Amino acid sequence: MTDQRTDAYRDDRAHVFHSWSAQRALDPVVVDGGEGATFWDESGRRYLDFASQLVNLNLGHQHPRVVAAIQEQAAKLCTIAPTFGNAARSEAARLIAEVAPGDLRHVFFTNGGTEANEHAVRMARGTTGRHKVLAAYRSYHGATTGSITLTGDPRRWANEPAMPGVVRFFGPYPYRSPFHATSEEQETQRALAHLEEVFTFEGPHTIAAVILESVVGTNGILIPPPGYLAGVRELCDRHGVLLIADEVMSGFGRCGEWFAVDHWGVVPDLVTFAKGVNSGYVPLGGVILGPRVYETFAERPFPGGLTYSGHPLACAAAVATIEVMREESVPERVRDLGERVVRPRLEKLRERHPSVGDVRGLGLFWAIELVRDRETREMLVPYNAAGPAAKPMAEVVAACKERGVWPFTHFNRVHVVPPLVISEDDLLRGIDAIDDALEVADAHAA
Ligand code: PLP
Repeated sequence: MTDQRTDAYRDDRAHVFHSWSAQRALDPVVVDGGEGATFWDESGRRYLDFASQLVNLNLGHQHPRVVAAIQEQAAKLCTIAPTFGNAARSEAARLIAEVAPGDLRHVFFTNGGTEANEHAVRMARGTTGRHKVLAAYRSYHGATTGSITLTGDPRRWANEPAMPGVVRFFGPYPYRSPFHATSEEQETQRALAHLEEVFTFEGPHTIAAVILESVVGTNGILIPPPGYLAGVRELCDRHGVLLIADEVMSGFGRCGEWFAVDHWGVVPDLVTFAKGVNSGYVPLGGVILGPRVYETFAERPFPGGLTYSGHPLACAAAVATIEVMREESVPERVRDLGERVVRPRLEKLRERHPSVGDVRGLGLFWAIELVRDRETREMLVPYNAAGPAAKPMAEVVAACKERGVWPFTHFNRVHVVPPLVISEDDLLRGIDAIDDALEVADAHAA
């Protein structure tokens, strides 16, 4: 009998071209199945998914309600062009509008996060008649031409020059303050003064939008200090600039609210989403529009569209996901777990491990930042390290996997981003495994 698992691996290596990677170095784990917060490979080896795949699997693997919704929709109508109305699409849009911040009421659907940001920028430019977009260092907004230009991390470098009109600024990062601030209050004040200066030097009348991740995800789980987002909103209002909140990673319960901006009561003009909207079961993303943008395109055509905008299978999965999240009060559960379980446990890790410089987060969105020296805050591995320079982090990853936990790591950080439905026991078990694994990082720390 043919060994299917071996075939899957062999065909992958022979024919699959993977994202962001040098192909020959790859040795992918072939995943056979998953349930809830666990998945297993073809040899039956199980991992606790502390990455939620790519921080999208909010309801865990194979949630029966979401699986059934996709099956029912598939049996009824698999696809329909975007010009038609469709019950799954209408309901998904209504549910998203119901949980959206403030007066955002309309949804433009895309296939994922990068297309959402591309279209949000197009909407902002069309609404304001201006072309510049201000985007932050330490951000990720997607891999297509416009979104990769908005991105403030090394993934942009090999893709330049790309979209014209993007101007960069620094957002707040209290642990490594770009503004030499010594308190959160000072960080807010100086980050806003810096942004205001960028406005002045660029000419506010040329700026269409500011785009930011409400809580920066991959680039560090950077939580805006009190007053920052409100200050950006005020600055944008003063100059007629639109605020785009990228909630692709931070939205749909991840931060313990439907959207991360809800923590600070700030209402953006445009919110982009993807990932958690349907737990990633079928590709889906989109832009939620406020009245200013909607009214612009109420009378004149919006110059954008996609064959799969509002795909019925993806929208049916979104409807089921949002219903489950509402019925099971998932955002509230996440908020509770974050404060009651994760925060105190990670604070203990900081006390115990000389390699832990900082822990920060909210909901089920946390970062453990690893350093060689707590005094100087020298990173455990340098920014954008690869190869031998990245070895200490590779060792941490290997130690987590040996302990049955699939971690999310980026540069010198381990992120704690499990599915929102993880049991409390599994959550503690996973953090305990990271706790053990960090001893290999301690060996590199002063
Ligand atoms: N924006 C943020 C904040 C993200 O984290 C990501 C993906 O990780 C994207 C946009 C891009 O989303 P996608 O990969 O679905 O295009």
